[in-house]
Amino acid sequence: ACVPAAAAPAEPLPVLGRDVTVPLVTGGEVTYAALDYAASAPALQRVWDDVAAYAPYYGSVHRGAGHLSQLSTELFEQSRATVAEFLDCRPDDQVVFTRSTTDSLNLLARALPAGTRVYVFETEHHASLLPWREAEVTYLDAPRTPAEAVTTLERALAAREPHGDALVCVTGASNVTGELWPVQELAAAAHAHGARIVLDAAQLAPHHPVSVTALDVDWVAFSGHKLYAPFGSGVLAGRADWLQRAEPYLAGGGASRTVARRADGGVDVDWHTTAARHEAGSPNVIGGYAIASACKALTEAGFDSLVAREQQLIATVRAGLAEVPQVRVLSLFGDRAPRVGVLSFVVDGWNSSHFAAALSAEYGIGVRDGLFCAHPLVRTLLGSAPAEPGECGAPDAAPGEPSPTSSGGTPTLNAVRVSFGAGTPDEH
Ligand code: PMP
Repeated sequence: ACVPAAAAPAEPLPVLGRDVTVPLVTGGEVTYAALDYAASAPALQRVWDDVAAYAPYYGSVHRGAGHLSQLSTELFEQSRATVAEFLDCRPDDQVVFTRSTTDSLNLLARALPAGTRVYVFETEHHASLLPWREAEVTYLDAPRTPAEAVTTLERALAAREPHGDALVCVTGASNVTGELWPVQELAAAAHAHGARIVLDAAQLAPHHPVSVTALDVDWVAFSGHKLYAPFGSGVLAGRADWLQRAEPYLAGGGASRTVARRADGGVDVDWHTTAARHEAGSPNVIGGYAIASACKALTEAGFDSLVAREQQLIATVRAGLAEVPQVRVLSLFGDRAPRVGVLSFVVDGWNSSHFAAALSAEYGIGVRDGLFCAHPLVRTLLGSAPAEPGECGAPDAAPGEPSPTSSGGTPTLNAVRVSFGAGTPDEH
């Protein structure tokens, strides 16, 4: 299900920031080349226009009797339905609007039935790796082929006591290598062993159609700001049962149906069993609307042709990098593994941070350097010993000191990442 579709390539979709120019250290200026889509993609012009057209009419959702409140409630709920359609959800799945993928996975972590064992590959982004720490977690070793990922998971699941709940959390496409993971096979393995599975689609959803039904995953999480919508909104979609039984993620208005003082002085709360249960407070209606607008834009443009175009861009980038003998492209599953428009590399003799800074200063190209919030994975790929962690980027260097990742013969502990998507023009 994760093999890129063959279709006629599309035109790039209009995005914000296409005409931004930046100064170069060498003098003059160039049009900025935004090649850091994996961190945050530029918003589609269409999304921006939709939001601007709606902005004068927004009001509080789920509460007001006024016309604009009613309209906003309708648009917010329609947005939920659009997202469900975009993800090809099952009819009884719930779509919860969150702040981001990180928020979605933390929400699910809080909704786990007591005693759930979580299985997660060490190669995951920290957003998928870390939220489960209060549960019992089995960390799985990095597989070197997609098939090995499946057998590793099967072996771990087979070794578990056959009672209690279990959850597998896996990425659809790596934010470091861009490689596609065998989600459908992992879901089948999870289900065969009585476990459930959540798909971290932060990198998959912007680059590839996701069908919850066809992949047979129990939940999927993604972020608006990587899917060509602005910041601040995300999605957790999937099975309602664990979500309905869990304590609300946030306690407050909107999540509660009725609240009453008890005779003994306490408070009784009847919580909603819809998505509202986990959306307490005034929801981010513009954020949900923007995500829905992006979903529609991708579908209407023909997602398969966007995929085809992105595959051409990847091939061009790969061919260009292959001409430079000092460049090593990072890969877990091997050179021929299918990937989305995300690719990391190191350059012999270069500190990756300096290399990324030079691309910006000398060419106006914006890329990312560091460990990409996936420290164990990047260390595995670089074959390096654990280093002191920094933030999501490179390990910290003292001010004025060379970075501990510096080159000069020592292996770099960080990499350069280039990533692109539906809005990237060929010239970049
Ligand atoms: N998972 C993956 C694979 C990601 O690439 C990212 C963002 N880099 C996240 C999760 C977290 O997304 P967000 O920062 O929007 O919560």
